[in-house]
Amino acid sequence: MDTETIILKPIAFEGILRSVYETVRKSESFGYLFGEIYEKRNKHINWIVESAIPVQIVKRVPQSIYCDDETEKRCKMPVITENIGDFHSHIPYRILQNDGLRTEMPGEYRISETDEKELSPDKISLIVGLKKVKKMGLLVDDPFLISGYLRDNKILYRIDMGGYYFNKRKRRAILKTPKKALKMIR
Ligand SMILES: [Zn+2]
Repeated sequence: MDTETIILKPIAFEGILRSVYETVRKSESFGYLFGEIYEKRNKHINWIVESAIPVQIVKRVPQSIYCDDETEKRCKMPVITENIGDFHSHIPYRILQNDGLRTEMPGEYRISETDEKELSPDKISLIVGLKKVKKMGLLVDDPFLISGYLRDNKILYRIDMGGYYFNKRKRRAILKTPKKALKMIR
């Protein structure tokens, strides 16, 4: 399949996992992605994510995170690599009507309206759904998702990651990470 592709270097992938796991009991996690953008010969784009850095100064309200303009500007300053996008997590939240626990997991119809509004043309957004599960289920082979399980002693979390960008409309990019990184969640 030939389309826009996001390649996550193992250290960037691990950084995102650690960041979303740290906050999962209390809030979503938010951070910026750094790396390079290549235009392939066929004009399609490859985003190479070298690192993922969580933002420390954020305002947290239930189900969302707000980063002010000055903080955003500072975070995006080019150092060794350039900012190529951001990431955030979706964690379980309670629905008021029936008090059930629910998680918005990444996928074609599973990103929020706010997420969609914040997509920009040349930047990518990685969205990571993380929720506690009792046992492992079947993992479907989907080139647009990285799915698996995080194990911490006897606690098991299901993780689904999707990558989005905007080109006239919301689109999903193929998401790839080397086997070395995938081993962490398989
Ligand atoms: Zn979101």
